[in-house]
Amino acid sequence: MAEQEKKRFGKIPPKPRFNLLWMYLIIMVIFFGWTYFSESGKTKETDWRTFKSEMLLKGHVSEIVVVNNERVEVHIISDTLAKAAIHEEIRNARTGPHYTFTIGSVDFFQNQLEEAQQEMPNNQKISPKFETRVNWFSNILSWLLPIFIIVFVWLFIFRRMAGRAGGAGGNPFMNTGKASPKIIEGKDKIDVNFNDVAGLDEAKEEIMEVVDFLKQPEKYKKLGAKIPKGVLLTGPPGTGKTLMAKAMAGEAGVAFFSISGSDFVEMFVGVGAARVRDLFKKGREKAPCIIFIDEIEAIGRSRSMSKTQTNDERENTLNQLLVEMDGFNSNDGETVIILAATNRPDLLDKALLRPGRFDRQILIDKPDVTGRRDIFKVHLKKLTLAEGIDPEELARQTPGFAGAEIANVCNEAAIHAARKKKEVIDMDDFISAIDRVIGGLEKRNKLISPKEKKIIAYHETGHAVCGWFLENAHPLVKVSIIPRGEAALGFAQYLPKEKNLYTKNELLDTICMTLGGRVIEDLIFKDISTGAQNDLERTTQMAYAMIALYGMNKKVGPFSFKDLQNEYSMRQPYSEETANMIDDEARKLMQECYARTVTLLNEHMDKIHEIAAELMEKEVMYKVDFDRILGERPFADD
Ligand code: ADP
Ligand code: ZN
Repeated sequence: MAEQEKKRFGKIPPKPRFNLLWMYLIIMVIFFGWTYFSESGKTKETDWRTFKSEMLLKGHVSEIVVVNNERVEVHIISDTLAKAAIHEEIRNARTGPHYTFTIGSVDFFQNQLEEAQQEMPNNQKISPKFETRVNWFSNILSWLLPIFIIVFVWLFIFRRMAGRAGGAGGNPFMNTGKASPKIIEGKDKIDVNFNDVAGLDEAKEEIMEVVDFLKQPEKYKKLGAKIPKGVLLTGPPGTGKTLMAKAMAGEAGVAFFSISGSDFVEMFVGVGAARVRDLFKKGREKAPCIIFIDEIEAIGRSRSMSKTQTNDERENTLNQLLVEMDGFNSNDGETVIILAATNRPDLLDKALLRPGRFDRQILIDKPDVTGRRDIFKVHLKKLTLAEGIDPEELARQTPGFAGAEIANVCNEAAIHAARKKKEVIDMDDFISAIDRVIGGLEKRNKLISPKEKKIIAYHETGHAVCGWFLENAHPLVKVSIIPRGEAALGFAQYLPKEKNLYTKNELLDTICMTLGGRVIEDLIFKDISTGAQNDLERTTQMAYAMIALYGMNKKVGPFSFKDLQNEYSMRQPYSEETANMIDDEARKLMQECYARTVTLLNEHMDKIHEIAAELMEKEVMYKVDFDRILGERPFADD
């Protein structure tokens, strides 16, 4: 992005502007100089004492002028000027004033002058003239200078804005409403296709479908199928969302518009909306085409979440986007498909995800070992490698890396080899490249040490095995120890049942399953970690809810204390005694669940070691893998 910005800046020739400014400066300097020299060039600075003793009393003075009540100008009789030695320096000046000095106050000066001339004959006495002179130059300057400064600042700001708006034109206002997407047209221009995107097979398949829409819309229209309008790619940064979008355009052989959500966000009201309108107008002209909006969360943030007034502008932009998406009809020959990417789909406004908008979501996740191997293969192709560089080995050494980081490793390795003046890139180069990239990553997000990896693997295995053997828990889909975003180090994904009711036994089993991670850490490592915090938060909530909200505890009885969650209520809606009882019962319930989980996991310890080992190696395991190791789940996955 930064590079693009620079390029746009580069288009604007800033030179003439600055030359003009220099000219103003030079004119100013000359002006100053001229006034300065014209006033004092032939005039010599002196003081009252010298003036009095050397000139006034000796009868050299022809005229005294008091200017602006602050300065005295002295004119010398021309005969004297030519002869007297003290006037040597200013002899060449014909016209006065010849000397000048400043005075403190006019009254005082007049008194002094009077006193000094007391003994002189009356006809030789000189009385001063008074003059008021306006200094035009400094007056003009004092109001011209602020204008200069304002104009300069104004120019500077608009130059920047024009730059951001992508306009190279003269009038900065004209360009603010124009979107400036990067446009790539034609099949030949996009040199990316699906072969450049490694792994991500499921995502590719889905995208392929959309490409098919673009290629032969007739086939779908004939059957009355609606062509999808929006596809949302979600996933962590660097996993290849942009790459995927480009490959899609390349495969379909249509024009590709790429713009970032943050490009729409401006300080002026209405600019974002105008840019959206403009982008869609351009898109329609070039249809069929793909419009790719990166970082859509910059404009598509949920409206309910932003409560401040300042977000009005973003809301307008979002509304305009919705209007545009609803406005065009892909079936009328305007085949425009909007792809958007975000790594925070949870932040997006629900309105964006409604049918007819971004109703298809494709998850682009961080790659597992095999995915990373394939990505390495793609990027290694471009390098000159030493014998025996094994992509599989490299994949094993780079847990948690996304595609962007892998591309980076390959590049760093090549640079490292070049610096060492090697002919080919060998494993040494890759190892130092990996270290380098890890060094950069460590600062930004967490990478996992081997010891941590083991803990996480067992932790997730604990959840998974509990879920497997607890009848009322959710059926398992996938377990992963690839770190995801900020919070989750690993996860076990279950198929959530569409449920409106939960029975007591289901809740109890869910608590056990959620405790499974912590329990197994305790059993295996005889030590427990902070990794279970989120689990414990959920079990605590569930336990208290069972007792105080759902009335599922015999001792407390069938009560629902609604205000339990209300932090504003001043008083608990029950007695201190009941509060203690609830606490006691919650603790008892948790202890029972814990004990049950310990027993359950102990029963399956061999399998747990087996699963954890496989998970450490493969990083992701699916239901089929569990079927293989644990045998068919003893309950129906309804
Ligand atoms: P995102 O848009 O998800 O942040 P990008 O698409 O910009 O990520 O990916 C950055 C770079 O990482 C790509 O240009 C490519 O070189 C590399 N990359 C990412 N994912 C893959 C992949 N699946 N296969 C090959 N290269 C990839
Ligand atoms: Zn857990």
